[in-house]
Amino acid sequence: MMGQAYDPSNVFARILRGEIPAQKVYESAYALAFHDITPAAATHVLVIPKEAHVSLVDFVANASPATIQGFFQAVTETARLMGVEESGYRILANHGPNSGQEVPHFHVHIVGGQPLGPLLA
Ligand code: C5P
Repeated sequence: MMGQAYDPSNVFARILRGEIPAQKVYESAYALAFHDITPAAATHVLVIPKEAHVSLVDFVANASPATIQGFFQAVTETARLMGVEESGYRILANHGPNSGQEVPHFHVHIVGGQPLGPLLA
């Protein structure tokens, strides 16, 4: 899939610039984690890289290995801080038209805090 140009006015870019508030959970050099504004589960947190990448494909193609590692370390650390490491959780990232990705800045959803059931129920 051809990479879509990054739009710096997207809502997550604005959160990273501090232009709009977010309920922050964790921050590192590589990533910012904050509560989803419309939670789909008891625990629903988004983790976004600080670098500008539209979606998973762009992130993996263009970010450095250290950045990719730092990002996924932020994902597991955020889940640990949210207290769902032992009970279990699911991560999800949307890419491309069929996924319905709304915000064109790569993000991973962490959902948990309750039994999650089948993936596509
Ligand atoms: O993966 P997708 O792009 O569809 O998910 C975007 C998510 O960002 C939604 O779950 C939505 O509730 C969340 N969101 C948010 N804060 C905003 C705008 C969207 O948490 N200001």
